[in-house]
Amino acid sequence: MEEERKLNFLEEIIEEDLRTGKVDSILTRFPPEPNGYLHLGHAKSLCINFGLAAKYGGKTNLRYDDTNPTKEDTEYVDAIKEDIEWMGFHWDKELYASDYFDQLYGWAEKMIMEGTAYVDDQTQEQISEGRGTVDKPGVESPWRNRSVEENLKIFREMKAGVYADGEKVLRAKIDMAHPNMMFRDPILYRIKHASHHRTGDKWCIYPMYDFTHGQCDSIEHITHSICTLEFDVHRPLYDWFIKTLGIYPSHQYEFARLNLTYTLMSKRKLLELVQMGIVSGWDDPRMPTLCGVRRRGYTAESLKMFCDRIGVSKRDQLMDIQLLEWCVRQDLNARSNRYMVVQDPLKVKITNWPEGKVEWFDCPLNPADPDGAGRRVPFGGEIYIERADFMEDAPAKFFRLKPGGEVRLKYTYIIKCEEVVKDGDGNVVELRCTYDPSTRPGAGEWRSVKGTVHWVAVDSCREVTIRNYDRLFTLADMSQVPEDKDYKDFLNPESLLESKGYAEPALLEDKSGIAVQFERTGYYISDRDGTPEAPVFNRTVTLKDSYRPE
Ligand code: ATP
Ligand code: MG
Repeated sequence: MEEERKLNFLEEIIEEDLRTGKVDSILTRFPPEPNGYLHLGHAKSLCINFGLAAKYGGKTNLRYDDTNPTKEDTEYVDAIKEDIEWMGFHWDKELYASDYFDQLYGWAEKMIMEGTAYVDDQTQEQISEGRGTVDKPGVESPWRNRSVEENLKIFREMKAGVYADGEKVLRAKIDMAHPNMMFRDPILYRIKHASHHRTGDKWCIYPMYDFTHGQCDSIEHITHSICTLEFDVHRPLYDWFIKTLGIYPSHQYEFARLNLTYTLMSKRKLLELVQMGIVSGWDDPRMPTLCGVRRRGYTAESLKMFCDRIGVSKRDQLMDIQLLEWCVRQDLNARSNRYMVVQDPLKVKITNWPEGKVEWFDCPLNPADPDGAGRRVPFGGEIYIERADFMEDAPAKFFRLKPGGEVRLKYTYIIKCEEVVKDGDGNVVELRCTYDPSTRPGAGEWRSVKGTVHWVAVDSCREVTIRNYDRLFTLADMSQVPEDKDYKDFLNPESLLESKGYAEPALLEDKSGIAVQFERTGYYISDRDGTPEAPVFNRTVTLKDSYRPE
């Protein structure tokens, strides 16, 4: 299949570069800023960067883009590594932009000496004002023509901590009338008296993104620096620094970021959801973070399948979350163990069942693997079925249980509803049924009835807590929140419905480590909030899949 697929534009570029000898082997990098947890968008970036390197026999560095000490933290550094490992990717070197602070500082002094950088005393507002607009050229700063000596002296004082935050910045001296606004004397360094998670208090000046990213790529000899589309306006500047400094020519390529229906992926907003207590944490199963979807029961394989299907495009795309859910089902359907769990129980008494008798049935754990390990399911004189699998005044097309009707209990006998027991208010509280001993699977001829329902035996079932998760937001395109509204106005009040369930005992012995299928209902994964006595299961995704990918 891999061979038949048309090459994407990045593969085309790489194959051309390898063919022409522009590069001997490829080296990509994944450059997260350690200011939050990785999300599904990052999964796409991971799949592209690691996937391309793997396909072409190259390598990928993990490089933390840690130039903003006030927002970054080792908590995030560690979580990011855990998530990448969970995805099954292996980086070559673990690096940090802060590893290069000395080198970057040296390059800044070099530019000052060559007359391509200067210290500006203007305020942030004056600098923005002076930049002009796309139609209006900027104006030069009054400090633009300081001498090399003066610039060097002040820049060294900035580094030594002589000035307060915001008092001065270092800017490149390029062209205040340049049609690309990025070239209107971009800021290279700002003063920030803040402790850095790695360099501590060594620095009080920190380099800006544009003066950092390309140079870091160059130092590492990254051949293909792949980032999201919004960086295309930065590319000319990326190239300009590399050329001006005369260093290894890394190249930047841009792809469309992933946007998903009913999902927010901005780290700033995700942090807000955590801080406001709207979700229980970064790994709340409703979060689009990798730790969140992992806790929800999504597998790394399903995320890779999804990324493979959406491909790599140059145009922004809003992908249907149903495609991701479809991938999760595909993967879990093939691999997950099956168990029966009743979530809204209706008691059924089997009136012709011998008093106290328990019969065990050998059932497959996964019907796709009938020779694989199995499970034993106990059957007895009292069972629970789902309330929704019984209907008193049923239409003709209702093939589950109805008065006088028959249904197959999954893996066991056919039962017939003989009597409906109600309470004083007319609510159905119990069914009295008879079972047909000749319908035991494997015993004699197979008799079919139209409906099959799942069930658990009252005596041996185990109570579990079930967290039925749904989408966190109600708006399909979260980039279209109206001006007068906030994204929090679109929170789904039913994104978590907790209830009790009754499970066959084997569920609690499951050791698979991935989500299991609650037969006829959905996929669920054991949550760490549970204990052996009081287990908790999170719904990964329902079984209902009307969605069909193209
Ligand atoms: P955010 O805007 O949510 O804070 P970011 O782009 O600042 O995200 P980084 O940690 O800087 O996050 O991203 C690391 C890498 O992941 C970058 O190369 C970035 O382009 C890529 N990336 C981030 N979000 C997405 C997305 N939604 N789709 C694809 N790639 C993404
Ligand atoms: Mg970023």
